[in-house]
Amino acid sequence: EKINETEFDVIAKFDNLQKIPTTENKISSYLTIQEGCDKFCTFCVVPYTRGSEYSRTVQGIVDEAKRLVDNGALEICLLGQNVNAFHGEGPDGKIWGLGRLIQAIADIDGLERIRYTTSHPRDMDDELIETHAHPKLMPFLHLPVQSGSDRILKAMNRKHKADLYREVIEKLRKSRPDLAFSSDFIVAFPGETEEDFEDTMQLVRDVNYASAYSFKYSPRPGTPAANMQNLIRPDIADERLARLQGLINEQQLAFNQQSVGLTMPVLIERKGKREGQLSGRSPYFQSVNIQGNERLMDTIVNVKITEGFANSVTGDVVLQETISEAKA
Ligand code: SF4
Repeated sequence: EKINETEFDVIAKFDNLQKIPTTENKISSYLTIQEGCDKFCTFCVVPYTRGSEYSRTVQGIVDEAKRLVDNGALEICLLGQNVNAFHGEGPDGKIWGLGRLIQAIADIDGLERIRYTTSHPRDMDDELIETHAHPKLMPFLHLPVQSGSDRILKAMNRKHKADLYREVIEKLRKSRPDLAFSSDFIVAFPGETEEDFEDTMQLVRDVNYASAYSFKYSPRPGTPAANMQNLIRPDIADERLARLQGLINEQQLAFNQQSVGLTMPVLIERKGKREGQLSGRSPYFQSVNIQGNERLMDTIVNVKITEGFANSVTGDVVLQETISEAKA
């Protein structure tokens, strides 16, 4: 099973979150900390539909995080359309970045795991990169790059080159050596040549992703890219998407197979598709299936991984005692 966590899924999630009562007992909860975006990527509607970046105050976020933990959350995912552009007012009256905010949230007793999504490579500042060494910040980061070609990145108005992305990845891996990455890719953006596409393939080879999402470009009405003329022929777009997805699938499978033999804490969130099966998430955001008693639901258990597939892993519970009991 694959749960979408792309840049655009996050945008959709904002609408869904409006409908969720705040008292809901959810073991893994989302907490909106930032909305809107000032980046104006040429393919994206967010800056027009959601307006400019707005960050909540640190105190408001920490108070809500405490409420979520009191309601049973073991994991909180900080959510924003451009979440690492967060610049909220701190209790000291100064502007805090996302790294400092995460450190404050990590001090909450009972909270085991923190994630954040979705990020822009340009907003990965040193404090945030260093915060990735914190044991409560999970070693998985969705960091969309969209293309590996400097020419296409410019046409997309992503405001950085492919090498900046490589440098950010390298710094993050220094801070947290086991950090696993995912990304979004848009294939066949207007004007993309075979050479541009090969640059994307090379970036994927260089980074070596744990998972990634790739899409054929499709114009969004009202965006600058929708007026671009040099569209890519559909058969070429299909062929490039298939090649990219082939490479990504190889990397996902390799990542999941490398987990075999490792024991890792898994947050058990739901029943699996098969009888007696439960499903959860590893620290690396892998979907983990186990056979186990339903009383393991909403807890974190140690699981020894026994098999790795393209989109999930399976494993055996090592200890019946849970590492963390969900609060009643
Ligand atoms: S960074 Fe770009 S793709 Fe992401 S929300 Fe902002 S404009 Fe859209």
